[in-house]
Formats: sequence, structure tokens, C-alpha cells
Amino acid sequence: MKRRDILKKLSLLPFAGGLASLYPFQSAKASPAADSPANRDLFKELGIRTFINAAGTYTFMTGSLMHDYVTDTIKAASKEFCLLDEVQDKVGEKIAAMTHAEAAVVTAGAFSGLTLGLAGILTGTDVEKVKQLPHLEGTGMKSEVICQKGHDIDYNHAFLNTGCKIVPVETVEDVEKAINEKTALMHFLNIEADKGKIMHEEWVALGKKHGIPTSNDIAADVPPVSNLWKFNDMGFDFVVISGGKAMKGPQSAGLLMGKKKIIEAARVHMPPRGFNIGRGMKVNKEEVLGMYVALEHYLNYDHEKEWKIWEDNIAVIEKAAKSVNGVNTKLFVPPLGNITPTLEITWNKPEVKAKDIQEKLRSGSPSIEVISHSENSINITVWVMKQGEEKIVAKRLNEELTKILA
Ligand SMILES: *Cc1c(COP(=O)(O)O)cnc(C)c1O
Repeated sequence: MKRRDILKKLSLLPFAGGLASLYPFQSAKASPAADSPANRDLFKELGIRTFINAAGTYTFMTGSLMHDYVTDTIKAASKEFCLLDEVQDKVGEKIAAMTHAEAAVVTAGAFSGLTLGLAGILTGTDVEKVKQLPHLEGTGMKSEVICQKGHDIDYNHAFLNTGCKIVPVETVEDVEKAINEKTALMHFLNIEADKGKIMHEEWVALGKKHGIPTSNDIAADVPPVSNLWKFNDMGFDFVVISGGKAMKGPQSAGLLMGKKKIIEAARVHMPPRGFNIGRGMKVNKEEVLGMYVALEHYLNYDHEKEWKIWEDNIAVIEKAAKSVNGVNTKLFVPPLGNITPTLEITWNKPEVKAKDIQEKLRSGSPSIEVISHSENSINITVWVMKQGEEKIVAKRLNEELTKILA
């Protein structure tokens, strides 16, 4: 195998550290375990690279940075015991009111919300049924989820975890043909709404017409803040969203919002109970309360002001990139999800590859991560950056683009 091929293989492994992670003993200094955690820099101690995130809310880059009010909440919450069900009850009631849902629960992310919402639909609160998942055959439980082809992304694996299969459709006629006594759910994916022929309202109406519950994955789809209640108002039976993206709550949290009966049943699949498929998706009081304050704050702050800051900051980066000979920039806002000013940078030398620029930025000081969706372009957002980092990114981009295009 050529070295290049080995590197390619390595980059596909789950530990994206690649070669470095094969040599874990490189800096085997004595562990300063006696120091108080506040005085330790564990990233440094363990040799973990940190970076400026100019890419966005990517799980492989650990999502977004929690706000101080979230980490303060987590720390305070960790000092007391309470009943896990009670904290979910009380927080769920508040979250439901804030999002116009009948009920809500904090899950271990949007993906877990999809699994749990569907599981609840399959079983209701019948413990004997709950225990049988994911083995649905011969139980009489429903086992199919209908979804438009353009909406059938990897994350729909969340539904397979219940034992269900996905039935892809394209037209209204397809939907009506696909519906049968095994149909448990009709699922919609907001961020790819434009990749399907059937839009939100019609999807909900079709579900209602046939008595099939509908769901909507809006994991990455705030801002706008109104999306937090828009799809509950529209009549979807359950809606899921990530906590650790724009809301800057815990990365291991999200919301499942929806009909009371579904949320109640979903809870039977969740800890503290352990006879279910959801036991491994535990959120403790720290995440539950952290998610709650993240949402509360998100609903209350000045989104227009934040948008203006994003525009100003991305303009700084655009200007610095554009001033390099041979560089083109395009500023756009994705319409359905990850809705934030996004800068696409392209250049006039096809032999220069995005990954070369990414590597230069990555190995510089400070390290910077940008994202690329094609060989000859990189994309930048500023919404998870810390104040002032836009200037550093602008300067580093200008330096590296100037060098590589010279
Ligand atoms: C991020 C994302 C998910 C997964 O969300 P988690 O909160 O990480 O579980 C699911 N669906 C879509 C469309 C997403 O963007």
C-alpha cells in the first residue's frame, strides 16, 4: 500500500487523529493529577490539538461551544441529587410551553429523539412491548417508516434502531400506495425539504388523512428561532432538534417535542429504565438543565444583533480573502438549515486543492479548521467562533492563499 493510500484509509477511521493517535506515548510525562482541574490544560497535557472553528457545528469538531450560563448550570446541577424522572417532568413541561408542543423531553441529541419518538409510537406505554424492541417480527407492532427519497439521509438510521425499515417514496400517489397496516410514521427532513416533491403542510395533511403520525427532523435548523415552534404549530406529531448546534447547549443533548402520548411513551424507552433500546442514550440532570437554560436563553436574546455580528465578521474574512489575486468569494445563506452567512472561497488554479489549503491552516498557529464540499472550494462560517477570531482567520487565510496561488 502506498503511503498516500494508507493516509486515506486512516482518515476514514473514527479516530480522525490518524497517525498521531497510533503513538499515544509520545509525551509520557508524569501526570500532574495533584493539580486542581482549573489549573490544568488537559488539551495540552494530553497533546490534543485545539483550533479555531471556522467551519461550523460539526460533530467531528465537537459541535459548538457551550455558553457560560450552560456550563455554570451544569456545574451547579452536579452538586445535588434529584430524581431523574422529576427533572425531566419539570423541565419537559417548561420546554413544551416554550415550543408550543403538548410535551417535550431532553434527549441525547436529535438522532436519539428520532429513535425514541418512533419507539414511543410503536409501543405506547406498554412495558412488555417496550422490552421487545428492536425485534418487531411477530409482535403485531408496526414496522415501517415512510420517507421521501430526498429526505432519506444517514441519520435516518435512528429509525432502524427500533427494528423498523424505511419505505422511500416520491409522489403523493407513492405515499398512498405505501401506507398499509404496518406503517408507523411518515418522516420529513426540513433541511432537505426542497429535495422532495411534497412540502411540510401537505405531508402533515397526508398523515392526518390516513391516521399516520408525522415527524420532522429540524436538527440544525435554528436560526430562525421561530422554527422552534413553527413545526409543532403546523401539526407534526413529533419534532427533534439538536441542543449542541446553534443553541449552544450540551453537545450530547437535544429536544424531542410532540404529542403528549408519544412523549410519554418515549420516556418509557429512556433511563432511568433499563429494559429498553434507549438506555444507552442517557442524559443526566446536568444535560437536562443545561439544555433547558440554553433554550431559555436562545428564546430571549437579540437574534438581529447576533446576525449583524455574523455579517460583520464574515465581511472581515471575505475582504482579506478577496484581496488575494486569483481568489473569488461568494457570500450566501443556506435557506433551510445551518442558516448563517456562509462564505465560499474558490481560486483560479485548479491544481491547488482545498485539502492543501486546509492542511496549511490546520498546521499553522493557531490551528484553524475550515470545511470543504468540493476539491476546489472551501467554506467558512463565523457563528461558532470566539470574539476576535475572525481577524486571525482573515489574516491566516490571506497569508496562505497568497503563498499557494503565487
Ligand atoms: C446534526 C443532525 C442530526 C444529529 O443530531 P444530534 O443532535 O447530533 O443527534 C440529525 N439530523 C440532521 C439533519 C442533523 O443535521
